Amino acid sequence: MNDTPLVEISVVIPVFNEEGNLPTLFQRLYPVMDALGRSYEILFTNDGSSDRSRELLAVQYQARPDVTRVIEFSANAGQHMAVMAALERVRGKVIVTLDADLQNPPEEIPVLLAKTDEGYDCVGGMRQDRQDSIFRKYISRLMNQIRSHTTSIRMTDQGCMLRAYSRRVVDQVVRSGAINTFIPALAYSLATKPTEVPVKHEERHAGVSNYSLYKLIRLNFDLITYFTTAPLQIFTIFSMLCSASSLILVVVLGVRRIMIGPEEGGMFTLFAILFFLVSVCMVGIGLIGEYMGRTYQVVRNRARYQVSHILESASE
Ligand code: UDP
Ligand code: MG
Repeated sequence: MNDTPLVEISVVIPVFNEEGNLPTLFQRLYPVMDALGRSYEILFTNDGSSDRSRELLAVQYQARPDVTRVIEFSANAGQHMAVMAALERVRGKVIVTLDADLQNPPEEIPVLLAKTDEGYDCVGGMRQDRQDSIFRKYISRLMNQIRSHTTSIRMTDQGCMLRAYSRRVVDQVVRSGAINTFIPALAYSLATKPTEVPVKHEERHAGVSNYSLYKLIRLNFDLITYFTTAPLQIFTIFSMLCSASSLILVVVLGVRRIMIGPEEGGMFTLFAILFFLVSVCMVGIGLIGEYMGRTYQVVRNRARYQVSHILESASE
């Protein structure tokens, strides 16, 4: 990963069951890159697709072995791990990430490159007129807000994968050894001169989104838990408040019992004590969570993807 860059631009594309999109992607992407008149490579990571994506990528590799590299995973590891595997192997000075479903038009790549040429080391796309379901847009807006309140990451559109990074930022992303992470946010946090540009957004060319609700929830958990332990802290503070108020209740009821005498059957005193003990347990769970969160940050350094083979020509 620390080799001197051999080409100017690396384009990184994760592919998961995209047989309906790959032919059009090839048709549109290669001419854009050829027209730049700069040396480039395109790295596809086939993230364990079960359709014909693998064959299509192999054929494309045969057609353009000079600029094409294909990383084959043995099983599906998720979009961000697919991107990470490619980032670990890039040979370019500037790295562009892109989705395979043509939601990010390849024709927008020069817009990002114009910014990296100006010296920005992390260029984020902001999807104009986003073509996704209302539910996805709502979740996205909510997560953007949570992220901006709980972390120091300031990005308009964290979910847009059409982005460009300097090699330094990519090397640092790789060196961070991040496993459960959200690459755009991680790269932003490592950049020294980030910027954003508006980019077009299109409807998915073919097929449906690979993100089921479950995958979406997991992805958003990755985003929040990687960058902050705020959820655990909020929980602990909440339990402390519960604990403090139930202690007050215990004291008030105790005093009342002594001054006025017991209420019917002593029920409320019992409840008060119970509430207090339960909230003490909650603080305990919160505290254990705090420690687990920190331990987790240290131990998450484990391999999350398996490469079965790589199609590429020797790197000279
Ligand atoms: N993708 C992947 N592995 C996965 C899910 C998605 O490599 O497990 C790729 C997919 O092929 C596409 C990109 O990640 O290139 C974005 O996926 P998708 O379009 O399904 O997500 P959405 O646009 O709905 O967020
Ligand atoms: Mg998509």
